Amino acid sequence: MALLQISEPGQSAAPHQHKLAVGIDLGTTNSLVATVRSGMSTVLQDAHGHGLLPSVVRYAPDGKVIVGHEAQAQLSADPTNTIASVKRFMGRSLHDIADRAHIPYRFVEDDSAKKQVQLQTRAGLKTPVEISAEILNALKKRAENALGGELTGAVITVPAYFDDAQRQATKDAARLAGLNVLRLLNEPTAAAVAYGLDNNAEGIFVIYDLGGGTFDVSILKLTKGVFEVLATNGDSALGGDDFDHRIYCWVLDKVRETSKNFSPLNEEDTRLLLTKARQAKEWLTDNFEAQIVCKLSNGTMVDVTLTATQFVELTQHLVTKTLSPTRKAMRDAQLDITDIKGVVLVGGATRMPQVRHAVEEYFQQTPLTNLDPDKVVALGAAIQANALVGNRSDSDLLLLDVTPLSLGLETMGGLVEKIIPRNSTLPVARAQDFTTYKDGQTAMSIQVVQGERELVADCRSLARFELRGIPPMAAGAARIRVTFTVDADGLLSVSAREQTSGVEANIVVKPSYGLSEDEITRMLKDSFSGAEQDKHARMLTEARVNAGAIIQSITQALKVDGDLISTADKQAIETEIERLKATSQAGDADAINKAVDALNHSTEAFAQARMNASVAKALAGKNLEDIQL
Ligand code: ADP
Ligand code: MG
Repeated sequence: MALLQISEPGQSAAPHQHKLAVGIDLGTTNSLVATVRSGMSTVLQDAHGHGLLPSVVRYAPDGKVIVGHEAQAQLSADPTNTIASVKRFMGRSLHDIADRAHIPYRFVEDDSAKKQVQLQTRAGLKTPVEISAEILNALKKRAENALGGELTGAVITVPAYFDDAQRQATKDAARLAGLNVLRLLNEPTAAAVAYGLDNNAEGIFVIYDLGGGTFDVSILKLTKGVFEVLATNGDSALGGDDFDHRIYCWVLDKVRETSKNFSPLNEEDTRLLLTKARQAKEWLTDNFEAQIVCKLSNGTMVDVTLTATQFVELTQHLVTKTLSPTRKAMRDAQLDITDIKGVVLVGGATRMPQVRHAVEEYFQQTPLTNLDPDKVVALGAAIQANALVGNRSDSDLLLLDVTPLSLGLETMGGLVEKIIPRNSTLPVARAQDFTTYKDGQTAMSIQVVQGERELVADCRSLARFELRGIPPMAAGAARIRVTFTVDADGLLSVSAREQTSGVEANIVVKPSYGLSEDEITRMLKDSFSGAEQDKHARMLTEARVNAGAIIQSITQALKVDGDLISTADKQAIETEIERLKATSQAGDADAINKAVDALNHSTEAFAQARMNASVAKALAGKNLEDIQL
């Protein structure tokens, strides 16, 4: 993999010019803001001393917007106006989140082409961008209060697998909150920044991030200030919440054993028990047993004790489940356990001892835990923000991330030509020359696709645009250079330029639909299982495209120069053309190639005659001396 370097503006600022810059971890469950003070990255706290801000927004009846703990407390009382986990809806259409039918919100699709989801609340329709902007705004205010001034800029973190639409939505939310976005930074990279600089570490590292509702694993290569992401993987439906749910189910079983006539729980009781379960889970991280005591709305008393050992048994399968994406990432990066220099734990759920043990056992080493796992991303983002505004003299920090899926374009016959392979480091630019298929072709339609499969139909279409004004030329003569550029934030732009005339067209891709992580996983899985089938389909399509081009050029030549040969010869060629057309219909690439050979063979005399004719034409009226052989 080519290593592309980004050098950041490295101007150093005099101490009195110290600019206020923050790093923001906009998390699914919790969000944080951090800054570098006196050379130390620190999480900023609210007036109550909380560092973590629950990513929950409530539109209250009095018109106020409440963010954080207070909003979280109202989740069960006012579910449709209290929005949690909005990050899951960023840059998504209703179609993208169809599998999340159990979520209590009232979704509406916006009527633009993007079809992004909106949520119906008592304050009207709200987009995920607006809701996220409320969280960012709360953090911005917290930072301005703590730092006593206006912020110059912020680095905001996003999951490494976030696609273009999701990144764009995050940027939009930040702008809406009045933040100047210095850069979007991948969460694992931020964690690496926090550790890499603090510990002066080098080598290949694994970032294992188990948050509230998502699991992400990334493999990073660190060398003196250079961070390169080698691979990413994960599970978008696995996190600390699932551990809460296991305890919740266990408690319900216990209660059912003791009290007969136990009726199903209402929504409020469910929330209450889930909160109790979460508290018990967090308590068990440092204690041998947890007591769960509460009174349900029907009067039933709950009073049970869960031991740490029982909890480990209840949740072992969840811990094991994280290892499969981990293995896949290792396989993608073609690494062996022994190549891993260190493992960084990120996400509140990695505080659980059984998670730490599993990671330790798999990687055969003790994971790094000297920074708080739920703060490390914000701490790293703050370090990066501090460097980007020029507060540091050695601020040419290099950050390299990767594309989660290959990017390419459609070629004749619905085939995909990959331009930027999956896991390419960012930023990246790659160009490839293409040509026209027909004589005199003056326009070209360029379809940009994302995915690992060989056929366009199996990939996701991101955009389509046209290059017009190509000078008419013979098929195959035009040179059209198509350039794919993915910037440091992971946003793609594509341009096409005809080399002789210089006509150009381009597009910045903001796909209308985001790709869910599940889809990425599915597309990758399909590409493994579909490899053989794809190879076959590609060979067949290539044979057909080739046959089509040959038929076209021979038919054209016959039209112009058909009288150079006898009618019998001409008929023989036409017969072969018909035969090739018929063979092309069937699905055998070998047979098509053989028919192409037969057709070529039948045209040998004709080709000879055409050559003679054109030589004769060129020689007409010239002296022998003029002809240099
Ligand atoms: P996200 O990245 O999804 O915003 P976090 O990294 O903040 O999430 O992790 C939140 C999860 O961490 C929650 O499920 C929470 O219960 C869990 N968590 C926090 N502290 C502990 C702890 N001490 N022991 C076990 N789990 C914890
Ligand atoms: Mg997180």
